[in-house]
Amino acid sequence: MAQIIDGRAIAAGLYEQMRQEVEELDARYGRRPGLYVIIVGEDPASQVYVRNKEIAARKVGMVSEAIRLPGSTSQEELLSVIDSLNRDPAVDGILVQLPLPSHIDKDTVIAAVAPDKDVDGFFGMKSGLTLKAGYVAPCTPRAAIHLIRTTGMKIEGSHALVIGRGELVGKPVAGLLLGENATVTIAHSRTRNLRDLALTADIIVAAVGRPHLVTGDMVKPGAVLIDVGINTLEDGSIVGDIDFEAACQRAGYITPVPGGVGPMTIAMLMRNTLDCYSKHIS
Ligand code: NAP
Repeated sequence: MAQIIDGRAIAAGLYEQMRQEVEELDARYGRRPGLYVIIVGEDPASQVYVRNKEIAARKVGMVSEAIRLPGSTSQEELLSVIDSLNRDPAVDGILVQLPLPSHIDKDTVIAAVAPDKDVDGFFGMKSGLTLKAGYVAPCTPRAAIHLIRTTGMKIEGSHALVIGRGELVGKPVAGLLLGENATVTIAHSRTRNLRDLALTADIIVAAVGRPHLVTGDMVKPGAVLIDVGINTLEDGSIVGDIDFEAACQRAGYITPVPGGVGPMTIAMLMRNTLDCYSKHIS
């Protein structure tokens, strides 16, 4: 029976560690890390995400502010807000909450964030599979790698199968695993022999958005399974991409959904903000 990788408990431990780190940094440098989240419009889900980020930042003792702009904000106005945050030495991390209203070009806005304040990690992995030196990795991919590490399994030399080649999760996860010296296979919707590939994988990271895509008979005994997928079923329940019950019979370790990668993603946003702060004070 697989051991459950408890993302909530691991995130709670990280919050406590980071809270202590922030106190020490404040005592030493006289300044707390500052995370600023910009939200444009009233999208209810985005409002919840932004609120959760503010709560997490306060939990670890950072200075945090959500800049709430009306949906009618022009692209120029938004770029001007980003520009003033870029110049502000009290700001270590800037996150623009997506999606943006349709009259604003997302790529232009993201590109306007100073790379050394890009806590979302867009710059670090942009166009390629290599994390650029000096930049932070995107939060969800970083969370996936952290969870694999908590199992104690040796990533180097292992076969890691990443299912999904999305820009936000699949590709950056594959890049980070390559950086850890895993042998990485990236599967996608045109992959023919997914089951055969999965059966040889020591690690599977599923980032697709299809319930039960990974069935129990696809799992190599003892494998580490990281389920990034979030799917809402007709009855309102939330499941990942892996058939959790069946996979538990064969896997060595598995993340639940909810309670696995999700809670770790915001913890990694805080880690990224601290990493950006460290560069600003050095
Ligand atoms: P995405 O950009 O749409 O990518 C989905 C990928 O899945 C694509 O590469 C697609 O292949 C592949 N795919 C689709 N059907 C497949 C199949 N039958 N077999 C194999 N691969 C298949 O999605 P995303 O943004 O990466 O998100 C993926 C999932 O992660 C979603 O459920 C999302 O909600 C979740 N997510 C969770 C968190 C978190 O914090 N837990 C954060 C972000 C995202 P093609 O490229 O060939 O189309």
